[in-house]
Amino acid sequence: MRMMPTGYEALLGRVEKPGRYLGNEKGAVRKDIDAVAVHFALAFPEVYEIAQSHPGLQILYDLLNRRDDVYAERVYAPWFDMETLLRERGLPLVSLETCTPLSDFDVIGFSLQYELTYTNLLAMIDLAGLPLESALRGDDHPLVIAGGPCAFNPEPMAEFLDAVLLGDGEEAIHEICDLVAHRADVSRAELLESLAAIDGIYVPSLYRVRRGPRGQLLAVDAAAGQPRSVRKRTLVDLDSVPVAETYIVPNLRVVHGRPSLEVMRGCVKGCRFCQAGYIYRPLRERDPQRVLENAQAALEATGAEELSLLSLSTGDYSCVNPVLTELMNRYSGDRVAVSLPSTRVDALAPSLLEQIKRVRKTGFTLAPEAGSQRMRDIIQKEYGETELIEAARQIFELGWRALKLYFMIGLPGETEEDLLGIAKLSARVAAEGGNGVEVTASISTFVPKPHTPFQWTAQIGVEETRARQQYLRNELGKRKIRFKWHDARTSHLEGVISRGGREVGRTIRRAFELGCRFDGWTEHCDHPLWQQAMQESGLDPTQQLRRRFLDEPLPWDHIDSGVTKKFLQRELAAAVEGILTPDCSIDRCTYCGACDFREIRNITYHLQGAKGGEHRGEVIDHWASGVVDKDDTPGAWEPRGWHKLHTRTENSPIARGESPIDPPVAAKHSTRRTANGPGLGNAEEWLSASSEALSAPPPAPIPPAMRIRLQYSKLGRSRFISHLELIEVFTSAMRRAHIPVAYSGGYHPMPRMRFSPGLPVGAESDCEVLDIDLAEAAQPQATGLALSRELPEGMRVWRATEVSLRRTSPDRELAGFCYRIDLSSIGRDSSELDSLIAQFTAAEAFPVVRHSKKGDKTIDARPLVARIERVGPTQLELDVLFGERGSVKPSDVLAALFSLDRTAARALPLRKTRILALAGATSATNGDDLGAATTVARPQGTATVTSGLAPVAASVD
Ligand code: SF4
Repeated sequence: MRMMPTGYEALLGRVEKPGRYLGNEKGAVRKDIDAVAVHFALAFPEVYEIAQSHPGLQILYDLLNRRDDVYAERVYAPWFDMETLLRERGLPLVSLETCTPLSDFDVIGFSLQYELTYTNLLAMIDLAGLPLESALRGDDHPLVIAGGPCAFNPEPMAEFLDAVLLGDGEEAIHEICDLVAHRADVSRAELLESLAAIDGIYVPSLYRVRRGPRGQLLAVDAAAGQPRSVRKRTLVDLDSVPVAETYIVPNLRVVHGRPSLEVMRGCVKGCRFCQAGYIYRPLRERDPQRVLENAQAALEATGAEELSLLSLSTGDYSCVNPVLTELMNRYSGDRVAVSLPSTRVDALAPSLLEQIKRVRKTGFTLAPEAGSQRMRDIIQKEYGETELIEAARQIFELGWRALKLYFMIGLPGETEEDLLGIAKLSARVAAEGGNGVEVTASISTFVPKPHTPFQWTAQIGVEETRARQQYLRNELGKRKIRFKWHDARTSHLEGVISRGGREVGRTIRRAFELGCRFDGWTEHCDHPLWQQAMQESGLDPTQQLRRRFLDEPLPWDHIDSGVTKKFLQRELAAAVEGILTPDCSIDRCTYCGACDFREIRNITYHLQGAKGGEHRGEVIDHWASGVVDKDDTPGAWEPRGWHKLHTRTENSPIARGESPIDPPVAAKHSTRRTANGPGLGNAEEWLSASSEALSAPPPAPIPPAMRIRLQYSKLGRSRFISHLELIEVFTSAMRRAHIPVAYSGGYHPMPRMRFSPGLPVGAESDCEVLDIDLAEAAQPQATGLALSRELPEGMRVWRATEVSLRRTSPDRELAGFCYRIDLSSIGRDSSELDSLIAQFTAAEAFPVVRHSKKGDKTIDARPLVARIERVGPTQLELDVLFGERGSVKPSDVLAALFSLDRTAARALPLRKTRILALAGATSATNGDDLGAATTVARPQGTATVTSGLAPVAASVD
């Protein structure tokens, strides 16, 4: 492990969550930087808890680090406190794994998931010490590239990015690395030209914006030799990507901590507001056998208790039933739950619904998106009201008592009637559940996105949004429906950026300079500062939200998502008419442009489907039928909704070869789908949507067979893992080590572990204690060794002994701890220290302020400090005891004794070196599990104090 430079270590004790910056997670890749040709920083402009949850970043981390000539590290946006400290001390932003300054990398690859992370991206470039503008970077600077959904309108960030990767990154990222690895002494300009030759790479500096006399956009012109538009990269077959080898196990709780297994990419349902549904076409499903292999690898590597099957609409994955069934068969005994980002009830087999019935229900989510049938037809949402009510009834019957409904307001053509429809529909849904159910209507504001049929529509402003929210608040309130809404100003800002051109870059830069950060966080987005930035950069937000004319040049016209503008205009026309366009994976192609029908086409595991797609159902039909039920009817395993859908659409006008934009008026709604899927809303909604976990009912708890007491050290970067985070760390480590830990009973069984009292974050320890109950007998030393191997860097099990199951928890057997503190930073010589120590020892009482969340309280620390002694020129040892009313923090004693402020006292290097144990505890069973004992006085009664950790020599490893 490369040591963290001391300048950075010193910051960790001063930030809210040091765990965000440690980089010592299990699974983090270590390589010799000097032995690779390409040092690649995978950058995510969000805080660790969000960034580490993003599955795309994990895929690229795994793929890149398989190569011997590439080392990929991670770097995420520093939180406010860390950025302030870095700037105060003039320190650059560094990577997580090796603390390498960002400017020393060859490539910095940003993931652009959300427009409101752009100021974070600029902050990261700035903290790296790099010029913000691409044009000002020289030959020695790293390449700054970006990919992700927002890259499909890269123009607002064009000035700051050297290159943009459009579409799927699995193949293109290797080509980028090959180019960088084999670059000779070429200039930056030549390197960028070579990059532009890679399929899917857009180099903004090779495209010039042409404007008219009033500043209006006329075109984005390609430089000589460059294509007029850049086509996105498409991974033809998801199965061509090997099973992942690397999984990082976060030490702290992140937004989505479970491994996410992508089961398909792309969606051809055609919801007209959903950008992801267009830019990720065509639909490519993953071989279910490969999904199972990925699941096995992910569980082995992480010890996770939950897996997520990920896609834009997992309920529509053709193998959802057999895969879920097989996963439950394989892993429910190991208490592994499987979650879907959203669940369409009619997609699941009855046997799976039975499983769901028997587990605890936390809440269920459906996304009708609009309140009236008219509006759902406009946006192409498959829900009919009858199907929605039926789905709600089923959900309530299954036992859910809380149901969340996602809606959007401000959709094109919305009327008061449509808004009222939201309230009425929510009330009808609630009526299905009867008394005691809670229905929440969660309302977001529609933001038109590039590359969708609604890219030409206007977005409602802040005041109009608030008026519609108020209307809904009243109408929902009358019907006793809970109302949740997105901040109107945040949606407004998203809209200003998302359809902007290069002129918006000036505003983003000014907002960054004014201090805007984490703008996607409602509580942190500083709207007055953004208004100031818009004014100072001359941006009129109303112009950004206006409707666009169909023949007007758009800033992203030179970005080719595959789906043609002509198709989007046909879809817009169909929306106006309220006509639904069929799903091309089960019906005929409607010529959106995403497929070339040679290599690129829909790949499904349906037995049959649209022409031009590849249907691999027969490959696995026999296997899947065996998994789901005894019925060997071909295709019996496919989602139930698929069959309903297929049957209905066979008679649709589209299936009869009629145009989707010009059907007879009477046939307007005849393509209505019956599948009542909730879908996923837009991409941001998808990212934040709560999931439903499916798992087998927890097995009855097995009485523990034995208890093992572990002593472990927590040194180096691991000292910043908090006590709460330790529970996660040990739980997943025990699962990876296949330790047969015993579980508590109840709906949420927990591993039976008991820790010694929490260590202050930032303090090191040689002697933490943990009791683990095992469901079956195991050899303590082997158990300790196996566990030690799975712990993060800096943590190591030193001793494992069996103790009686009747023993009390470690905290009841301990009298206190001995701490060693390094005082070299406080500027006192040894005689001053001795004098203060003597005063403390002679004092009858020593008041200190104890700080807690409930407030400050003054306590007498004197009886709680059994010994204070200088053991080196500026080294102190402190024996701190537990009294009947708690204890005192060493840092509070040090603050009072040496007149330090609380922050400075907490930052002092502190190490717990010995356990002070009660006399009765050490003799209870085999005696030595807390070390050899000596006796001292303690606040009430007599305590036994261990003389140290002498038996550590017989450590487990
Ligand atoms: S080209 Fe046809 S088959 Fe391919 S995604 Fe578009 S509509 Fe579907």
